[in-house]
Amino acid sequence: MPQAHASALVLSTAPLNEQDKLVCLLTSTHGLLKAVAPGAAKMKNRFGSLLELFTCGDFYFYWNEEKELATLSKGEIKESFFDVISAAGNIFYFYLIAEIVLKFIPENLHDERLYKLLLAILRSRRGNQSAMDWLLLYFLVWFLRSEGLLFNPKQCASCSAALLDRAWVRRDYRGLLCASCKTDEPLTLGREELAYMNWTAHHPPGESGVWAGRFQPASMIRLLVGKIEFHGEFALQSSRYLQEFR
Ligand SMILES: [Zn+2]
Repeated sequence: MPQAHASALVLSTAPLNEQDKLVCLLTSTHGLLKAVAPGAAKMKNRFGSLLELFTCGDFYFYWNEEKELATLSKGEIKESFFDVISAAGNIFYFYLIAEIVLKFIPENLHDERLYKLLLAILRSRRGNQSAMDWLLLYFLVWFLRSEGLLFNPKQCASCSAALLDRAWVRRDYRGLLCASCKTDEPLTLGREELAYMNWTAHHPPGESGVWAGRFQPASMIRLLVGKIEFHGEFALQSSRYLQEFR
């Protein structure tokens, strides 16, 4: 039975049967990993609060030859974010973040950046360094960047002219257009929003507060969530609970 050990964040936990739960982990070394947590559905179990959403822990698991899923044998909490996640003003934003990762990222694809990005966002929120909507926007920009799907905020995708005051989003979400190349594209990004995309490349999420008041993040959040849904060919369910989508 091959065994492994990984640091990971819990992205979802669901009952599998009367006794066991199915856990989805974003690991620092194996990408997304689904594992059975034996006995976790019982009131008293060895995992305790280890399997709460976005708990950061050290997890030990093994594979049975005949079974597809890994089995979680034990784990230890390294950092609990229960207070951050359970706060009423945060929880639905983190549901959306977890849903995006779970639906978009293939299993077992190693990319440590995403794990580090989520940890940085959780810690920034706990330290109250930045408002939750700005942290979601930061996540969306970096998620798209790490997937190679972020717009180039500097030049028109059609004629390569520099984008200055305003850019129009192509209907297939693949690039931004200048005022000369646009036709009837309804979605646009303004000067500050374009500058923000550049800014995220060199600043941590906790510094997002410097943007408050320069533009409202809601419309860019809707735009980038729409882009993720378009490329992923799915509809996200958690966004409906956010004020940005009402
Ligand atoms: Zn152009």
